[in-house]
Amino acid sequence: MPERLFVCTPSKLGAFADCARRYRYSYVDRPTPAKGPPWAHNSLGASVHTALKNWYGVPADSRDPEALPKLLKATWVREGYRDVDQERTAYRAALRWLETYVNGLDPADEPLGVERVVATKTAVLAFNGRADRIDSRRGPDGPEAVIVDYKTGRSGLDADDARGSQALALYAYAAQRVFRRPSYRVELHHLPTATVVTHEHTEESLARQVSRAEDTARDIMAAEKAVAAGADPDVEFPTSPGALCSWCDFRKTCPAGQEVPAKDPWTAVEHLTPTA
Ligand code: SF4
Repeated sequence: MPERLFVCTPSKLGAFADCARRYRYSYVDRPTPAKGPPWAHNSLGASVHTALKNWYGVPADSRDPEALPKLLKATWVREGYRDVDQERTAYRAALRWLETYVNGLDPADEPLGVERVVATKTAVLAFNGRADRIDSRRGPDGPEAVIVDYKTGRSGLDADDARGSQALALYAYAAQRVFRRPSYRVELHHLPTATVVTHEHTEESLARQVSRAEDTARDIMAAEKAVAAGADPDVEFPTSPGALCSWCDFRKTCPAGQEVPAKDPWTAVEHLTPTA
């Protein structure tokens, strides 16, 4: 019998690569262990992403920075902030980021996809993932698909972040097959600093990322199979104590997580000020 394909998204693979125990809590244990409270930085990121999605949902001649307050307000996520003042500060920051960002866009551009799901299969994976944006751009040999991922975290990014992102590479690999055109360029658009970092993949570098993703999938399937056969789930899905634990949704459930100090849900937005 051929092995079943491993159905996955970039976040599923990333969860296991970050910490096998976190993967188990998220995708294996049922019922899912209780998560901590929502994070303000996730609310902020989701709000900005949705506003940009809806920006492309309005007709091109209405894509004006003046449309942004309405778009941002309509789907603003309120969870996780310390208080209304902090939430207001975050809203103003998000609006400034968006205004700067859309000023650099051509309103007439129609991307190939916005929050577009791309899916493909390999010998091991049945991959699907939702790309923030897939642009159509002219390359040396004709139209290409360019993968765009929005970032709203505090730290700036560099080209290594774009080069090393398995998620971006898998989106490019899938986009080639879905749109039947080359897709090698991947871009991270960091809104707080209005910077874009890019990487040009090659057939070989995409194949390497796919091969790494397949290795991760094999490790996951082996651990799941071992647990199904009676192995200790704590051994098959070990903890990876580290800096991520303070930000882990399962910190209270996990023995390693309980050892690290908790962060407040709003810690990662505390640096935002009304004007910066
Ligand atoms: S608290 Fe740390 S070790 Fe535990 S699941 Fe989360 S990331 Fe893994």
